[in-house]
Amino acid sequence: MSQHDYDARIPDGPIEDKWRNWLDDHRLVGPRQRGDRRVIVVGTGLAGASASATLAAMGYQVDAFCFQDSPRRAHSIAAQGGINATKDYANEGDSIRRLFNDTVEGGDFRAREANVWRLAELSTGIIDQAVAQGVPFNREYGGHLATRSFGGVLVERTFYCRGQTGQQLLLGAYSALQKQVNDGSARVHTRHEMLDLVIEDGRAHGIITRDLVSGEIERWSADCVVLATGGYSNVFFLSTNALGCNATAVWRAHKRGAAFANPCFTQIHPTSIPQTHENQSKLTLMSESLRNDGRIWVPKSTDEEREPQDIPEDERWYFLEERYPRYGNLVPRDVASRAAKGVCDDGHGVGPTGRGVYLDFADAISDRGESEIDSRYGNLFEMYERITAEDPWQRPMRIYPAPHYTMGGLWVDYELQTTIPGLFAIGEANFSDHGANRLGASAMMQCLADGYFILPHTVTNYLSENEGRLATDEPAFEQTEREVVERLDRLTSIGGKTTQGQWHKDMGHLMIDGCGIARTAEGLEKAIGELSAMRESFWQDLCIAPGRDGMNQSLEHAGRVADFLELGELMCRDALDRDESCGCHFREEHQTDDGEALRDDENWSSVSIWEHREGEAAEKVTEPLNFEAIELEQRNYA
Ligand SMILES: Cc1cc2nc3c(=O)[nH]c(=O)nc-3n(C[C@H](O)[C@H](O)[C@H](O)COP(=O)(O)OP(=O)(O)OC[C@H]3O[C@@H](n4cnc5c(N)ncnc54)[C@H](O)[C@@H]3O)c2cc1C
Repeated sequence: MSQHDYDARIPDGPIEDKWRNWLDDHRLVGPRQRGDRRVIVVGTGLAGASASATLAAMGYQVDAFCFQDSPRRAHSIAAQGGINATKDYANEGDSIRRLFNDTVEGGDFRAREANVWRLAELSTGIIDQAVAQGVPFNREYGGHLATRSFGGVLVERTFYCRGQTGQQLLLGAYSALQKQVNDGSARVHTRHEMLDLVIEDGRAHGIITRDLVSGEIERWSADCVVLATGGYSNVFFLSTNALGCNATAVWRAHKRGAAFANPCFTQIHPTSIPQTHENQSKLTLMSESLRNDGRIWVPKSTDEEREPQDIPEDERWYFLEERYPRYGNLVPRDVASRAAKGVCDDGHGVGPTGRGVYLDFADAISDRGESEIDSRYGNLFEMYERITAEDPWQRPMRIYPAPHYTMGGLWVDYELQTTIPGLFAIGEANFSDHGANRLGASAMMQCLADGYFILPHTVTNYLSENEGRLATDEPAFEQTEREVVERLDRLTSIGGKTTQGQWHKDMGHLMIDGCGIARTAEGLEKAIGELSAMRESFWQDLCIAPGRDGMNQSLEHAGRVADFLELGELMCRDALDRDESCGCHFREEHQTDDGEALRDDENWSSVSIWEHREGEAAEKVTEPLNFEAIELEQRNYA
């Protein structure tokens, strides 16, 4: 039986007043008391860096952790296309309500209404904050910030810095954090990996880390802990995520009692560069913004052998434009990914593996001119050429869907607090605002809304009533550290024959086959059985470099793979349990006559929340989703 009531603690009142009401009513910590309170923030991507900088600027003592050698190397740096905000500079009548509607509908009505409204409401402040930090957004001739469109939207509300928006926004947040480091209110611990969460009396009190250079295990105590540790798409082995992205922090917290929500909701992005060979360890994303000007097509003939430039117009199949005339190439990612897979399954795919479709800029270059296309996407064209040795100015790019973003994560309430009091989760690490499918350019918006504008207040609310840090020599710290060391020793002493990289690759194949773009009950049951067998073999046959003292990258990776093996099984169980199709979760058993996802609102308008049970299968609880500000309807992008 669940011990938790899963009250999302959504404030009363009309949806447009909820956040204001909450801000007016929440408890405060006086400026003189803040310096005595310490907050741990694990993660220094957009979510963690913005939260750390803001909390420290408010006067709290902040300890920020990351496993890279600099906060600037967090995966957020890879984000290319842009960030949404409802400023309506394009004068199209955009509004908070429209951004809210697009986001809820894009997520196929599986997100919490009040959170999404707040996100839309706070979006404009993010742009102001970033501009004040000097983030070099693209501008129109007259000086206004430029905007462009992303999938699932009929307005241009995406702000961008060429094709490196994440990098520029991260530099802004990083600079703000470094200022606090300089002022003495924040400390940044690089090359430190959180390996466990310390709990006493049911509350989060600190973390245990391993110094990835010296191997030293350390204890850190704080008044509360924030996880900003990113997403877990690397569970599929090949994904668009940075190689180091992993689930260890959230998974360790889950095993200590933080519930996990909607684990199966994974976004497969339609515009990755296709895999070229078996030994590849990563896939590279081509930003969705390219779909503003690039046209997607495949040859009509399944026997086509000509170069794309030589295929005449009437022998090309612009399958998205044909099926979805209103949105065309800018349909949401789940819709575009399924369509691309479908035409490749039917034999129209291009490139050496037949798993690719063309993304063609010939018309855009001739209509708008090279210099305009270069100013919008120049660095993306260069990146594509460097990776594929093909020149996208001369011939169309080749793209194919790849695992990209995880909408699932730790369950949080309206205050971004998990089921463990004193443990908060922000950014991609929480399940939060995107439902069953995240629209493009919304992830960074959520990370920065969480970090700059929401969490600092909700943490304050918590700290106003919870003070008193646990000393690091208390039994809770000693016991948790002992368990961390035992686990590391167990991993290094198996002495098997198969490397952690091979295990990761094998499980990735299993996950993409069983729990990828499309799922069936049969495929999921098979994957669950195989994953559980694989986990047993892993703990008997793992081969890694010995010793936990000093640098040991195979040990780091092995710990993450061990967690992926458990999380992967939960993802499959969740996908099997959710007996409907919604957004990216496409159960082949549930589709419309046109092959679109068929929701079952009567039975599945809810968040699936999983609680860990030691030695047994996880237990599911649900949070019902109520829609008052928007009417539930079948998505229609045609
Ligand atoms: C190629 C690509 C392009 C994208 N483009 C866009 C875009 O155009 N627009 C958009 O809105 N979104 C985009 N996204 C999504 C977006 O980039 C991410 O969702 C977002 O950056 C996640 O930020 P985060 O702060 O939650 O996590 P991350 O940036 O992943 O940061 C995680 C942090 O946690 C730390 N960490 C993790 N585990 C531990 C641990 N155990 N111990 C210590 N530290 C730990 C890491 O060191 C890191 O600092 C893109 C994603 C990809 C992959």
